[in-house]
Amino acid sequence: MATLIGNNREQMQMMSFEAFIGKNNPVRLIDAFVDKIELNKLGVKIPGAVEGRKGFHPASLLKLYLYGYMNHVRSSRKLEKECERNIEVRWLLHELTPSYKTIADFRKHYPDAVRILFSLFINLLKEAELIGGKTMAIDGSKFRAVNSSKNNYNQKKIDRHQEFIDRKINDYLAELEKNDQEENNDELKIKVDKVQKELERLAQRKLKYNNLQQQLDNTEEVQISSSDPDSRALIIRKNIVEVSYNTQTTVDEKHSLIIDYEATNENDSKALAAMAMRAKEVSGQEKITVLADKGYHNGEQIAQCEAENISTIVACREQPTVKHLENEYLVENFIYDKENDTYTCPQGEILKSNGKWYNKSHDSEKKKKTRKNITNYRIKQYKTTACKNCPLRDKCTKNKSGRLIERSEHQDAVDRNNKRLLSEKELYKRRQAIVEHPFGTIKRAWGFSYTLLKGLKKVNGEMGLIYIAYNFVRVKNILGFDKFMELLQNWHPDYSGFHFLSVLRSFFSSFRLRQFFHLIFPPQKLLVLYRT
Ligand code: SF4
Repeated sequence: MATLIGNNREQMQMMSFEAFIGKNNPVRLIDAFVDKIELNKLGVKIPGAVEGRKGFHPASLLKLYLYGYMNHVRSSRKLEKECERNIEVRWLLHELTPSYKTIADFRKHYPDAVRILFSLFINLLKEAELIGGKTMAIDGSKFRAVNSSKNNYNQKKIDRHQEFIDRKINDYLAELEKNDQEENNDELKIKVDKVQKELERLAQRKLKYNNLQQQLDNTEEVQISSSDPDSRALIIRKNIVEVSYNTQTTVDEKHSLIIDYEATNENDSKALAAMAMRAKEVSGQEKITVLADKGYHNGEQIAQCEAENISTIVACREQPTVKHLENEYLVENFIYDKENDTYTCPQGEILKSNGKWYNKSHDSEKKKKTRKNITNYRIKQYKTTACKNCPLRDKCTKNKSGRLIERSEHQDAVDRNNKRLLSEKELYKRRQAIVEHPFGTIKRAWGFSYTLLKGLKKVNGEMGLIYIAYNFVRVKNILGFDKFMELLQNWHPDYSGFHFLSVLRSFFSSFRLRQFFHLIFPPQKLLVLYRT
């Protein structure tokens, strides 16, 4: 049977690159999108007409990155290769071939510009009514950092290593002492030399751990990472811990489009309010509903959301079992009477408060000492003298003075959240479908489960590129090529306020400071201020 042999490679063809790129090729959308952006207004330097070698226009590099992230290629060395062999990239870049270093520098230098680009794109999606803005799911996802677990240290790990080194040094010193008492010969000399070399090696290691101890003492953190200092060992699931970044992401319910993100090096427990308030600003709505899993169940955060007209539906954490208590005597089974501010216990006794508020904190001793992100809240205490003669006392409490119930100042807000969780079960069930859509695509389908850059700021830049690419692909799937192209062609990006915003943002490097900044000056508020 005859086989297909293809064309003769020597055959000359009269073809332009344009002819190789299909009419509906998505690369045309990337081209149209970036051509609409005035990158200098995003704080990106455009090479001027100076003497010497001409520089690459940043628009070419941005097109290359967007193409790369959408096609699951993000290493600058691989992108450099694509510029030479990939016909779509050659068309997109007008056959320019930047080096991997030039490509990498763009991503490193412009995380703030990427953030603004993301916001401009979200504004376009809002104009196109692709964002519902009423219900959003917030979730954090861990992306492995450029830092192995071996290069992450906490006090326990440093102590363990130092104890091991000290033990080894003592063993070797004892061996040397024993050798001193033996008769001198060649064999002994070799043995002693070996032990002395080991002692020198251990002295070096001890120095390393002393330095790490010093670093840990000088920081407010409870752990340090030596390859990427901003990364932290975070719990991925159950007992699995990895040195990573936790990217907080807000996803709109209507089309599962990402409307906001923030890479952090903290867990989810204190991220709800800041992300929800930013989501409200982005949506431009008076009232929004946010869905979040139990990792976000924090009274202070839920109360803050309520105060901002944000309705939360956050899953409850499982109550820790209290060994000496039977289930019937857990605090949930004590009935709270709001009007009289009392609790009724399962025995029908009334527990009253003296009306005083007491300060309470859940944080570690180090956190309390350094006062970094500490959670202080107030509680009231409730008790009754009836416990003294209660026949069920052994089942209810081990406290000699009787049962003591503590009620947080945020408990009312938590109760309302828990009530909504019960009445809006179907809506809460949608949380996973909304928020897992982007994470499933990005981490599973595209394989972006780790970062390529170091440091919170740069990691934020990379997350911005990933999320722009995700939204871009999603919008193309929702609208189709022609409508998306039409949308881009009629787009007039509004930059007012964004340059000022990028300058201010660059002053804020830590997540907490950025959260604070976002709350006071969310992008939309800044734009309004700027224009008036
Ligand atoms: S010990 Fe006190 S609080 Fe507990 S059941 Fe008895 S009376 Fe009620």
